[in-house]
Amino acid sequence: MTPPRNSNAVRDIASVLHPYTDGRAHQKNGPLVITRGEGVRVFDEQGNSYIETVAGLWCASLGFSNERLVEAATRQMRQLPFYHGFTGRSHEPQIELAEMLLERAPAPMSKVFFANSGSEANDSAIKMIWYFNNATGRPQKKKIIARIKGYHGVTLAAASLTGLPANHKLFDLPIAGIHHVSTPHHYHGANEGESEEDFATCLADELEEVILREGPDTVAAFFAEPIMGAGGVIVPPATYFEKVQEVLRRHDVLFVADEVICGFGRTGEYWGSQAFGIQPDILTCAKALSSSFLPISAVMVNERVFEGLADGSESVGTFGHGFTYSGHPVPAAVAVETLKIYDEMNLVAHVQSVAPALQDGLRQRFGDHPLVGEVRGRGLIAAVELVEDKAARRNFDPARKIAPRLSKIAESHGLIMRFLPGDGIAFSPPLIITEAEIHDMLDRFGRALDELQVQLRRESLA
Ligand code: PMP
Repeated sequence: MTPPRNSNAVRDIASVLHPYTDGRAHQKNGPLVITRGEGVRVFDEQGNSYIETVAGLWCASLGFSNERLVEAATRQMRQLPFYHGFTGRSHEPQIELAEMLLERAPAPMSKVFFANSGSEANDSAIKMIWYFNNATGRPQKKKIIARIKGYHGVTLAAASLTGLPANHKLFDLPIAGIHHVSTPHHYHGANEGESEEDFATCLADELEEVILREGPDTVAAFFAEPIMGAGGVIVPPATYFEKVQEVLRRHDVLFVADEVICGFGRTGEYWGSQAFGIQPDILTCAKALSSSFLPISAVMVNERVFEGLADGSESVGTFGHGFTYSGHPVPAAVAVETLKIYDEMNLVAHVQSVAPALQDGLRQRFGDHPLVGEVRGRGLIAAVELVEDKAARRNFDPARKIAPRLSKIAESHGLIMRFLPGDGIAFSPPLIITEAEIHDMLDRFGRALDELQVQLRRESLA
């Protein structure tokens, strides 16, 4: 049946250029139009309900309805709908939010800079690092090391940090001076029989080789997500970050922790850095900072970096960086309220209490499934990786788009799912999810996976 001319589907196809969407396929398939949310669920135009298994984009940590956040935004809009931080202006929401972030930081931090998205936070961090090294008399020390399959955003510099072909190939990226080292994925990357610890040593050695090859006086910083998110939910092998940090310290390379997904309880610790013993010099965060009810991100810098920036502005005149909406009072007020809710719900204890339902549930129910190569994750972030040959750890031909297909089947079972490069299916539900809702989500996922298996069997017989 052709949809009526004034339907949202027809209007969408005619007017919206979608992010991360295959333009041609979209003209044929049209959008899934979501009209409202409630707790961990969202509803489409036909009234179908879905559990949002990835909290939108790993971000709506308090789910899709929260009156306190609505009130915080409304209150702030009435009081002061806009003000900024340029040339020393300020307002209470950004001051309070900065204080709250510094109190909660996983390592001693000195100041907080605000932006609007994860990409902007990472771009800002790169610019601060360049500025810092210019200001401290090391103009050669500018190169940045990130990792293959890391995800740090899509603005020009952040996309360059990102280690995925789709973000580079047709965009003439990465920009100069960005290097990528190997993905810390034991399942695919380690030699047969190699322990996690030995694999971690190899990865740290590789990092050191790159630094030495480039020249330590030219390498400024290393960017890493504690758990890689969009690149596949890749949990680093034991001792990895310990060894990486030793290398970085030896060569005076700053550690930037990208906590855009891992921050605020996702891994079962307040910060992913705490889950892996990371002591970052700079930390970027976004998403769950405001439970994504409004856009806001932050860059925290330690005292040493701040002092460099302050010295630089003394000699240059001004720190020439900032966005119109840096620290916008409305999202800042929503973020303050979000952090208060996290405290009241005892966020870390809550995540730790429900996480076994997800982590053990996935492993026990699907670990032996013939289509599942690896189940990985920690806290309320996980992935199930689909394989064609379980023993050989061999994935399906990417052209077969197996994970996208499973994600489509899952829709008909009441789940909105996210597929990842390498046929991963992500789980990163709102942090307010209950055990019962996790069981429901896994039941539905199991039915979708079985349906995929039946389809594949039929096709191989055909
Ligand atoms: N860093 C990480 C770890 C992310 O997951 C993302 C977005 N998924 C970003 C940065 C970029 O954030 P944004 O889309 O808000 O620019």
